[in-house]
Amino acid sequence: MTQPVVGVLALQGGVAEHLAMLESLGARAIRVRSASDLLGNDGAPVVHALVLPGGESSTMDRLCRTFGLFDPLREVIAAGLPVLGTCAGLIMLASQIEDPAPGQQSLGVLDVTVARNAFGSQVDSAEVSLEWAGSQVAVVRAAFIRAPAVTRVGDDVEVLARYQDSVVAVRQGNILAISFHPELTGDVTVHEELLGLARMGATA
Ligand code: GLN
Repeated sequence: MTQPVVGVLALQGGVAEHLAMLESLGARAIRVRSASDLLGNDGAPVVHALVLPGGESSTMDRLCRTFGLFDPLREVIAAGLPVLGTCAGLIMLASQIEDPAPGQQSLGVLDVTVARNAFGSQVDSAEVSLEWAGSQVAVVRAAFIRAPAVTRVGDDVEVLARYQDSVVAVRQGNILAISFHPELTGDVTVHEELLGLARMGATA
C-alpha cells in the first residue's frame, strides 16, 4: 500500500481535526457520509481504515441509521477493517452502554461496557498526559471532553491506557478505541497506531 486511505465518519462531531492529522501523517483522508463513500460497487470497503470521531454518540447513532450507514459500518468492522473510535466513537463501537440515551444503539463490535460522561465535572474537560501501552510505549497528550470510561473489558480486549483508575483506551484486534481526543492536542501516537494496523491489513 503506497498511501493508506482513511475514512472519517462525518455525520456529526469533530471531523476536521482527524482529517488534518491523518493527512499530516501521509494518509489520504476522506469524509464518510453514506454507504457509497465506504463501499465500492463490489461491496468491498474503499478505505483501508476508519475513524469514528467524538461528538454526541446518541445523535451519531441516529444519523448512522437514518443515512443507512449503521449496518455497513458494523459489517466492515466485524470483517476486520481497522478502526479508531474516539470518545463518542468509542461509545458507538461498544457492545454495551450503561446509561444510553432513550433508544440509543451501538454497533456492538467491541467487547466492552462503557459509561457515558463518566468523569466528574473536574475533568469534564481536561488535558493530561497518559501512559500509552500500544505497539510503542509512549506518553500521550490527551484531551478529555465529557468523556466515557470503559467499565468492563472482555477477555480478548487489551487495555492500552488508564486515567484516574478507569480504563480509557483499548484494543481488540482491528479495533482501537479511546475515551479522549489526541487530535485536539496534536499528539499523533494513536493515529500512527491506526495507520500501522491499516498497513498490516489487520484482521485479528
Ligand atoms: N458525552 C458524549 C456522548 O455521550 C461524548 C463526548 C465526546 O465525544 N467528546 O456521546
